Amino acid sequence: MLDTTITGSLPKPAWLAAPETLWAPWRLPSETLAEGQRDAVLIALELQEAAGIDIVTDGEQSRQHFVHGFLARIDGVDFARRVTIGIRADRYKAEVPTVTGPLRRREPVHLDEVRWARAHTERRLKFTLPGPMTIVDTLADEYFRDRRALAMEFARVLNEEMRDLEAAGLDVVQLDEPAFNVYMDDVAAWGIEALHRAVDGLRCTTAVHICYGYGIKANVDWKRTLGSEWRQYEQTFPLLANSRIDQISLECRNSRVPLELLDLLRGKDVLVGCIDVATHDVEGAEDVAATIRAAMKYVPPERLFPCTNCGMVPLPREVARRKLLALGAGARLVRRELQGHE
Ligand code: ZN
Repeated sequence: MLDTTITGSLPKPAWLAAPETLWAPWRLPSETLAEGQRDAVLIALELQEAAGIDIVTDGEQSRQHFVHGFLARIDGVDFARRVTIGIRADRYKAEVPTVTGPLRRREPVHLDEVRWARAHTERRLKFTLPGPMTIVDTLADEYFRDRRALAMEFARVLNEEMRDLEAAGLDVVQLDEPAFNVYMDDVAAWGIEALHRAVDGLRCTTAVHICYGYGIKANVDWKRTLGSEWRQYEQTFPLLANSRIDQISLECRNSRVPLELLDLLRGKDVLVGCIDVATHDVEGAEDVAATIRAAMKYVPPERLFPCTNCGMVPLPREVARRKLLALGAGARLVRRELQGHE
């Protein structure tokens, strides 16, 4: 119980990519890039194991960005036609590729990465992919011209990919859907349906990460406009509780999500964010334990997975390492308390 995990990403070493930067350019030439990425995965696994993280990831060391890393090998997505658009309801600008034709996965996208990670850890392994709605929101589209139709096509492609990844020994596959917090009506209209299509037929554990975004300035500014209580999840949680997704990941540390909303996720595993990725202040084990205890009022310990609020890729490496240690230590504290009561 209280098995720990992380949302997905960890900072990359400075020899691999520019630090503390989203969409950071690689610093290795193409002939040594893949080897460097594999080395970085070994470091990411070692960091997590040393911190006592139970369900580990590859730290997303092999992709420049959590959405575009997947799209780079999908026919129909043209990276030569990049345009700058406002994403997440125009919260920030991003340079995105354009959909110009039918979607087709030429070959498995992340299979080598999963095999490499699987071969180098005995722990349970999770792999993250962008969810259909978030993909659609991080693209320009000149072919389908219909967000729902495009999302369903991406769900089909994601399903092909996840079946391959599952066969390579994944324990958990997670779809990242920060867009679920922006387009609440679309979540009800087609967002859940797209998730279901994406996970169709999978036997491994399935998770969805929803959140208020990385700790970058555009997000911090946006959060200031949301008031003292963030109740967006009041609309999405009942939909997710009724879905076929096994686990829901969200931020609880320093967030203004009222914890009683977790009651709406009854019956699901909840990945409770106990580490704030928007600050360089490092939580202590006791801070983590306090978040876990507060969430346990609504989520039983066997369904509660202490986690990070979001990806840690924009953080300094040393900060991320110490936050991981705090996460592991805080979970151990509460586990000991619970065992003392048995
Ligand atoms: Zn997130």
